[in-house]
Amino acid sequence: PETKLPKVGTTIFTVMSQLALEHQAVNLGQGFPDFDVPARLVDALARAMREGKNQYAPMTGIPALRQAIAAKTERCYGYRPDADAEITVVSGASEAIFDAVQAVVRPGEEVIVLDPCYDSYEPAIDLAGGRAVHVPLDPQTFAVDWERVRAAVTPRTRLLMINSPHNPSGAMFDADDIVRLSELLRDTGIYLLSDEVYEHIVFDGRRHESVLRYPELRERAFVVSSFGKTYHCTGWKIGYCIAPPALSAELRKVHQYNSFCSFAPAQWAFAEMIEAEPEHYQQLGAFYQAKRDAFRDQLLGTRLRPLPVPGGYFQLVDYAQVSDLDDVAFCRWLTIEKGVAAIPLSPFYETAPAGQRLARLCFAKNPATLDAAIERLARL
Ligand code: PMP
Ligand code: GLN
Repeated sequence: PETKLPKVGTTIFTVMSQLALEHQAVNLGQGFPDFDVPARLVDALARAMREGKNQYAPMTGIPALRQAIAAKTERCYGYRPDADAEITVVSGASEAIFDAVQAVVRPGEEVIVLDPCYDSYEPAIDLAGGRAVHVPLDPQTFAVDWERVRAAVTPRTRLLMINSPHNPSGAMFDADDIVRLSELLRDTGIYLLSDEVYEHIVFDGRRHESVLRYPELRERAFVVSSFGKTYHCTGWKIGYCIAPPALSAELRKVHQYNSFCSFAPAQWAFAEMIEAEPEHYQQLGAFYQAKRDAFRDQLLGTRLRPLPVPGGYFQLVDYAQVSDLDDVAFCRWLTIEKGVAAIPLSPFYETAPAGQRLARLCFAKNPATLDAAIERLARL
């Protein structure tokens, strides 16, 4: 039969986690923490369930959580979105991305994505009947070449998707990127989808350039975040989208018929947690920076060459000194023969740069997990 997603197989994250399990490899592939979520959050979730907060939440999210997100956004970015009209709680950033794309992309329209990009973007575009137009990031620095983005714009361009801090590279937008982005979009009708799931995981005193800081950008943007990344609970699948009222209204039309509403008890728990412990997300950068630095020092004792990591919780390594295999073959070999699971970069591309020898390692792990991985990687 003619299928709608002929290019899609099983995601690389699922494939590599499965392979890690089969071969008892240390799993630094799929991005998830192996440490506990904050105790207060677990207590609040259990309490919410015991107190009977177990039925449908309001379609847009419980008011207490939308208020908490509004207040937190103002503290972080100096802009307070309207909790009723501009904030929608959904089932993870994945749902926010999917809903936003379905809401605005019409058949035959183009969506610009910057390669390498997160694997859910293109299938969402395909299902909307749109076409992903891939613009490569710099193969070494993963910086955006804004002239190339401009050259990719056509009268059919409907949406531009950006992601900072970036998965898989950790690259971050700086103030100049914001200037260039603003110039590019000015006087166009192009919408922006800003995937900011790693917004609080930024290092070395850098500032996260949220689109929400900039009136000219946020008036055309869906800004997406995820509590899975901020609160070490990727399995809870709660995220949110901040967008102007008209765009939020369109996103909600999709959300209400996709899932209708998201897991209610967790919404109560996050509402409490955000207000009671703002220091959790304020200190998240320092928490992960210590892990990044320790892991990097350990990697310097191996034949893998670590690339700079401005933000996020992934370390790219160049493995050219170890192997000449392509990245998918290398990551399979590393998992099966050497006992460490990693993620290849080529699945994040339409066309990966020829000869690129990079793999992604997740350092959102306990020291013991990273030690066990390093012990194996040191023998390469
Ligand atoms: N965007 C990016 C860049 C991600 O890394 C992830 C998680 N891997 C998501 C979106 C999806 O987030 P969630 O798990 O909240 O759906
Ligand atoms: N976002 C996670 C990563 O990049 C994977 C999530 C998933 O498995 N879909 O590793």
